[in-house]
Amino acid sequence: MFARNVSHGVWIGLTALLALSAHPTPLEAQERIRVGELQAGFTVLYANEGSGNTIVFRGEDGTFLVDTMADSVSSDLARALDGLGVDDVRYVANTHWHQNHLGGNDRFSDSAVILGSEALRTRLQSEQRLEFLVDQTFPALPEAFWPTVTFDDAVSVHFNGEAIEILHLPGHTDSDAVVVWPRSAVAATGDLWTPGGWIAPDIDTGGSLVRVEAVLRELAARLPPEVKIVPGHGRPGTLEELRDYVEGLRLTNEYVRVATDAGRDLSQIIDEVPGEVADRLGPSTARLLEASYGSSSSR
Ligand SMILES: [Zn+2]
Repeated sequence: MFARNVSHGVWIGLTALLALSAHPTPLEAQERIRVGELQAGFTVLYANEGSGNTIVFRGEDGTFLVDTMADSVSSDLARALDGLGVDDVRYVANTHWHQNHLGGNDRFSDSAVILGSEALRTRLQSEQRLEFLVDQTFPALPEAFWPTVTFDDAVSVHFNGEAIEILHLPGHTDSDAVVVWPRSAVAATGDLWTPGGWIAPDIDTGGSLVRVEAVLRELAARLPPEVKIVPGHGRPGTLEELRDYVEGLRLTNEYVRVATDAGRDLSQIIDEVPGEVADRLGPSTARLLEASYGSSSSR
């Protein structure tokens, strides 16, 4: 299934899931995480290949992390945090259940509160079988990986002078949470989007391209214009880029809905895709049309 056309954005989502068993040598490990300063108080740790990003938010109360990368690079994450002088992680917020975003949770479970949606905790407690995004079965994880504080809709954390909002906005999976720092104008979206590419939903665990469009539109309406939006993989993006992504999803979902209502099957939908949609989605066109088609039951 990986021979299909996929854009960089979708591809990183797929390889991300596949990289869980790779164990780097020490030399490779040093090259596996890149440190980027986002703005005062915020550092982003970018992992190469399959692992997700980690956001490090520091202040007088301590350190707040978003996501903990893949298990295969969790020792590199620990080293990168040591390099930043971080020894006071008080909170870890998880963006969704995919294990390449929370493989280091167990390193913080003794000292930090781990925050995640109730759906995320549930996903970690049993084996997960994926077929659409990647053909792989993920085992349940031990309790040290599970969120200790969960929420159904939202939770606020008052920390380092910020009222950090963590919002349950399911779309990529049923477990997604977006983290927003209103005062600092920073947001973390996990795999709901990727700037400069496209990322497919995990429709096997409650994801839906229709829901991704809806929650990203809702999110875009509440973010300040100057916001820096850090995705689960790759570079941060702008609000303008996020709105453009939502428009691409709107065109895609609208086309698939109309074509489905007219009785077209998936292969016809792919063959007859209008240029306006294909130009936007590029190499990801067939994949996202299939995702939108697969989302139809949750419209
Ligand atoms: Zn994901």
